[in-house]
Amino acid sequence: MDLLNVIKAAGIIGAGGAGFPTHAKLTSKAEYILLNGAECEPLLRVDQQLLEQFPDRIIKGLEAAGKTIEARKAVIGIKGKHKAAIAVLRQRIAALGLSGYVEIMELRDFYPAGDEQVLVHELTQRIVPEAAIPLKVGCVVINAETALNISCAMEGSPVTETYLTIAGDIPCPVTVKVPVGTAIREVIRQCGVTNIEDYAVIDGGPMMGPVMKDIDGYVTKKSKGYILLKKEHFLIRKKSVGVEQARVIGRTACEQCRMCTDLCPRYLLGHNIQPHKVMRALSYNLEDLKEQQIAQLCCECNACELFSCPANLHPKSVNILYKKKLAEKGLKYQPSQLEPVTRSAREYRLIPSKRLIAKIGLTAFDRPAPLTQIVFQPPQVRIALSQHIGAPAIAVVTVGEQVKAGQVIGKIPDGSLGAAVHSSFDGTVVEQSGNSIVIKVGSYV
Ligand code: SF4
Ligand code: SF4
Repeated sequence: MDLLNVIKAAGIIGAGGAGFPTHAKLTSKAEYILLNGAECEPLLRVDQQLLEQFPDRIIKGLEAAGKTIEARKAVIGIKGKHKAAIAVLRQRIAALGLSGYVEIMELRDFYPAGDEQVLVHELTQRIVPEAAIPLKVGCVVINAETALNISCAMEGSPVTETYLTIAGDIPCPVTVKVPVGTAIREVIRQCGVTNIEDYAVIDGGPMMGPVMKDIDGYVTKKSKGYILLKKEHFLIRKKSVGVEQARVIGRTACEQCRMCTDLCPRYLLGHNIQPHKVMRALSYNLEDLKEQQIAQLCCECNACELFSCPANLHPKSVNILYKKKLAEKGLKYQPSQLEPVTRSAREYRLIPSKRLIAKIGLTAFDRPAPLTQIVFQPPQVRIALSQHIGAPAIAVVTVGEQVKAGQVIGKIPDGSLGAAVHSSFDGTVVEQSGNSIVIKVGSYV
């Protein structure tokens, strides 16, 4: 089997959060393969530790992906502050004889250094045009855990586990490997938090992750972490403001200072995203939706809402509101045909991670979350058929059927973009709905 089919069979998707099927991403040819090891979300500690603990596998996965797309260079982007990981990677790249192909570039410690388009610019000085993807400028970006999963697939293992950081206002933050389909509540409990009801939980990083309505969900392949904070914490209160409430507050309070625009990472790359204009349209009830198509250029990094706005307003949420309105009307932003040029002030307007962490009230919780071995043996797992971008997988097992760990339980629908789904344990299928498969663990005979 060639690598693309190996990746496809292993059900690999982008582990950085978006969940795009990796085999589809690697069908194109590009000049560079970039490894996103920036991990710019505060408190998350997955990629930086994987790079240090599994350098050979990640380097080999990256190299294999790079050769597949015929990239002439593979570049690992990792923040310069992760000195131990960088030293290990340098040593292993040389030992593997890949110094001529794989290069390490140290990233500055700002938010959002891991935004795909920001990363492309930091590593190659190229600018992805508005509403385009990195491929447009000869780059394909994969995440560190994705490269690790490629390597594991080359050794015969599909994706049945994911790495997560459990952090926040808890005594002992940790990073753990968790079987896909494990109950989130159980993961948090086994990581030492027994008073879960006292917390609100953010799914993913504190900047972009939503506050979970309840924690009765299950871990998926793209889960990256859970941030536990007291319910009255600033971040929880701010993130809990609904779009409608954000609209009402924004209408009356926006002072048009344009800080949201001036510090917007995509605006600084030269794109025409200008959230203050969208806020103005809201305030003055401007009817012409075409003018607000710039909202579609927002990557929802939340920098404007959680850092830039001095009035503590919600420009990102208002962008989302307009994105919805535009989608309803079928309106799509027409990208400028001009070559994008970074704004001259960009260098002075990058948001330092430490200042961001202080601003969102997380300094006290900005601690190590060491990779720790915890054995998760849940009584059952619920494995979602749609953990990725594209069509949901189609179940290929039925209730009562016995399955083995690593066995395919959901396949990609014919002719669709999607990802296969595998069982994370030996067991028996006890439920099969349209969107998930429940496996009773350990009952395989
Ligand atoms: S930063 Fe806040 S107050 Fe200033 S223009 Fe943007 S939304 Fe309005
Ligand atoms: S969330 Fe705000 S800062 Fe981030 S891209 Fe959108 S408008 Fe810009």
